[in-house]
Amino acid sequence: MSKGVLLLSGGLDSSLSGLLLKRMGVDLVALHLESPFGCDSMAETMAREIGVPLVVRPKGETFLEMLAHPRYGYGSAMNPCVDCRIHMFRLGRAFMDEVGASFLVTGEVLGQRPMSQKKRAIVSIDADSGMEGLVLRPLSARLLPETLPEKDGTVDRKKLFGWAGRSRKPQLELARRLGLSVVPSPAGGCLLTDSHFNDRIEDFVKIDWSSGEGGGGRREAMAGILRYGRHFRFEEGEWVVVGRSLEDNQNLERHIRGAGVAFRPQGFDGPLVCLLSDPPVPVSRMEALAAGALHAFGGGKVPDGPLPVTLLTSEGERSHTLPRLSPDLHHLRDKTVWMARWRK
Ligand code: SF4
Repeated sequence: MSKGVLLLSGGLDSSLSGLLLKRMGVDLVALHLESPFGCDSMAETMAREIGVPLVVRPKGETFLEMLAHPRYGYGSAMNPCVDCRIHMFRLGRAFMDEVGASFLVTGEVLGQRPMSQKKRAIVSIDADSGMEGLVLRPLSARLLPETLPEKDGTVDRKKLFGWAGRSRKPQLELARRLGLSVVPSPAGGCLLTDSHFNDRIEDFVKIDWSSGEGGGGRREAMAGILRYGRHFRFEEGEWVVVGRSLEDNQNLERHIRGAGVAFRPQGFDGPLVCLLSDPPVPVSRMEALAAGALHAFGGGKVPDGPLPVTLLTSEGERSHTLPRLSPDLHHLRDKTVWMARWRK
């Protein structure tokens, strides 16, 4: 009997696939591949629910390289689903070797996603990742060629399904039958499929990291920031992020080191303002943008005159004073000036 690696997103389909095989007595290890953009995954909860050990690994820098130039293009948003699956299967393959497994298990359902789950796409994803015959998709297996664990008797093909299409009813029914006590949402919460983030992902993939700006993990640090705050781009390419809530501010603070600098109000209420210096911005311009953003988004509570702030950089924190905005830069206090530069 061979051992399998379950690619566990934490969504319903991959959880059901794992539980189905566990009930057949298959030896499984779950692998969750973390997006550099972060996501609200339920992988830990679902691994516990299924009763499989879980290993979490990053999709990594190579994923971000692929994102800029996906061979198979993007879906309806900035989602390079076919290339992403190939990338994940390659990582899955390496992990299989590590743990002595001989096949991969996924929750894919034929025809459920327009880009990566059509039969032709599935065939090329398996071929491109060197995984032909080694990927078991329990929910659609009976519509697909036999895979290694079916051939060697690890899995009884007759107990697998032949589902196709976008209906979620069979999954919910199976979850009920198998007694799944936690039913995660079907959507994986992938930021790249969310059109509300299109502009900023587009901006991100246009950055020329070969100039040295991407060194020291900066590209990954910046990816971690994209889901938080309001993002604004100015004429010279300046990229400013303004926290919208206390939670946003905390998340931005967690990720800003390594991606840019941040200004936290000291002694007055206002948002955290971050500058992702790409291209690098002169200090005086940076200070003007930060002061302008504090006034524009400070809800009228920001004092006139020089502003005391804490400056957060990769080296640590220190007190700093933002000079009063000169009259020719007063327009930066105007929220409408900022909203005209808002990147979704
Ligand atoms: S939805 Fe997101 S995580 Fe899933 S295959 Fe597409 S790009 Fe990858």
